[in-house]
Amino acid sequence: MELFLAQPRGFCAGVVRAVDIVELALQVYKPPIYVFHEIVHNHHVVTDLERKGAVFIDQLGEVPSGAVTIFSAHGVPDQVVAEARKRQLNIIDATCPLVTKVHLQGQRYSQRGYAVVIVGHMDHQEVIGTKGSIDGEVYVLSTPEEVAGLNPSNPEKVAYVTQTTLSLDDTRDVIRALKARFPNIVGPGLDDICYATQNRQNAVRDLAQQVDLVLVVGSSNSSNTNRLRDVAQQSGVAAYLIQDETGIDLQWLVDKPRIGITAGASAPERLVQGVIRKLQELGGGEVQLMDGIDESTVFRLPRQLLEASLIATSQQSAIEQCN
Ligand code: SF4
Repeated sequence: MELFLAQPRGFCAGVVRAVDIVELALQVYKPPIYVFHEIVHNHHVVTDLERKGAVFIDQLGEVPSGAVTIFSAHGVPDQVVAEARKRQLNIIDATCPLVTKVHLQGQRYSQRGYAVVIVGHMDHQEVIGTKGSIDGEVYVLSTPEEVAGLNPSNPEKVAYVTQTTLSLDDTRDVIRALKARFPNIVGPGLDDICYATQNRQNAVRDLAQQVDLVLVVGSSNSSNTNRLRDVAQQSGVAAYLIQDETGIDLQWLVDKPRIGITAGASAPERLVQGVIRKLQELGGGEVQLMDGIDESTVFRLPRQLLEASLIATSQQSAIEQCN
């Protein structure tokens, strides 16, 4: 069995930032720290943070008044921010800056009188957050077929934004259908699809050219991870999504001498290495790393958290000096 590894794969800058925010908050404020929804869509990441003292909740009502509460990387609707403020929670926002950019874009269109179409999955946390941050006429759709059912109040003033983690190809088809129905529609093109999604989809497409089977490491509720599997399948190879090495079905490997491995933006590298070890136990050879982009994007942590961390560090060193 030959093993090929996609480059890039796994954690993106938005996920690194979100996980770092929870870990630093746990050090600075001490557990329990409350996190509204899964910080990122990965079961292993969530379980690790739970072990360290993070409490994941789906209703703000579960948080004691005044407690530190982190919003997940997917963003939240304005109504959640308002409720958190009303309850005087100590909010730390881990929304990925690229998601915030889409919120702001949607808000600007709405303020200029446009009906805003969000191209994305209605039940995904990011889309729920984007929709809830736009105060005006707003629609959500994910397929070209749904475009015919749109009835905006002014068909001359329609704009669109997109979920950051969709498949580039699917999004292109929906935008084409929107432009055919509303020739004056305005929007960012494919620019809302984030760099990490684009890079990982390009990498898995290249990988699929080399192999007979692609294993995508990640959780089934992760949008970008599901799209990686879709892109591989659309490239003509068998592809499966696995949470970790325990998800490998030996039947998949029969008559598949070349195996490709990649990981969604919320899957830690240690899970990828676990999958490689398992495949090597089953007879796989050395891993061949595909050529690909070396990503250097880094997002800064929230200033409020960095300041709190500095204060905590200086207090700690003062105590140590006194001792
Ligand atoms: Fe941000 Fe893109 Fe990562 Fe989502 S996948 S957290 S939008 S960088």
